[in-house]
Amino acid sequence: MADRDGFIWQDGALRPWREATTHVLTHTLHYGMGCFEGVRAYKAEKGTAIFRLSEHTDRLLNSAKIFQMKMPYDRETLMEAQKEVVRANALESCYIRPIVFYGSEAMGIAASTLSVHVAIAAWPWGAYLGAEGMQKGIRVKTSSFTRHHVNVNMCRAKSVATYTNSILAHQEVATDGYDEAILLDVDGYVAEGAGENIFIVKAGKLYTPDLTSCLEGITRASVIELAGELGIPVIEKRITRDEVYCADEVFFTGTAAEVTPIREVDNRQIGAGCRGPITERLQTLFFDCVNGRVPAHEGWLAYV
Ligand code: PMP
Repeated sequence: MADRDGFIWQDGALRPWREATTHVLTHTLHYGMGCFEGVRAYKAEKGTAIFRLSEHTDRLLNSAKIFQMKMPYDRETLMEAQKEVVRANALESCYIRPIVFYGSEAMGIAASTLSVHVAIAAWPWGAYLGAEGMQKGIRVKTSSFTRHHVNVNMCRAKSVATYTNSILAHQEVATDGYDEAILLDVDGYVAEGAGENIFIVKAGKLYTPDLTSCLEGITRASVIELAGELGIPVIEKRITRDEVYCADEVFFTGTAAEVTPIREVDNRQIGAGCRGPITERLQTLFFDCVNGRVPAHEGWLAYV
């Protein structure tokens, strides 16, 4: 991935892909204090558009605020830079990764005097959990690792350090052949996937864990809004793992994962063992929105 043509926005300017490097004493590399975003651009009917760019940019700014990292760029600059990266790489549809990290001026955990850097890269990225999984559903397993307590890493921030926990969970279940992990919160309730929010469908209603121990997903918010428009009731509440086993349908949401059906959890078949009808309706509507086929949600698209 490091060796390719193209451009990465780094600290205010586009640089050739291979030159967008950083020092080995970069503070974030050692201590994990940093934050990032995962954003997607789609080849919509009227041209390439970034999905919910302002919401992703606001979450990035909030993540930096939570960590008291002094963001050197304003909202407009960050939004324009994300568009610029898509244009400069001539990408029709892609994943966009802005990251905010500390410089290499000093080691030790005192970070307030360090420089803050921002880089934004973009690359083509297909279905995160596999094209087949998008239709047939994936197999997931509950990890033995617990999602962060609200007072450990703080869940509103999309922080670099959170992903150690995600990677531990994912590699644990992937080793056993599952596609993705579910993490439980400190009290044993379902929190989210390693890189996704989770929804269950029971008797025509949609349930999703409240935001205590999961990331405030932008896809999650979009799906909640779309469900409302389809007249599907949505309830945010604590969910137990056996509620998930007995659900009619289960699916993940996320920028990378989009809307991914789940056909099996902890070796228990979910519903009919395939993508359920409500999941399919929401998935179809979601893809209609990101591809610019829903006039009411044109506002979610920022054309590059
Ligand atoms: N939870 C975690 C841990 C994630 O990494 C992601 C992906 N950003 C999500 C949920 C979904 O968030 P979004 O829909 O904003 O991508």
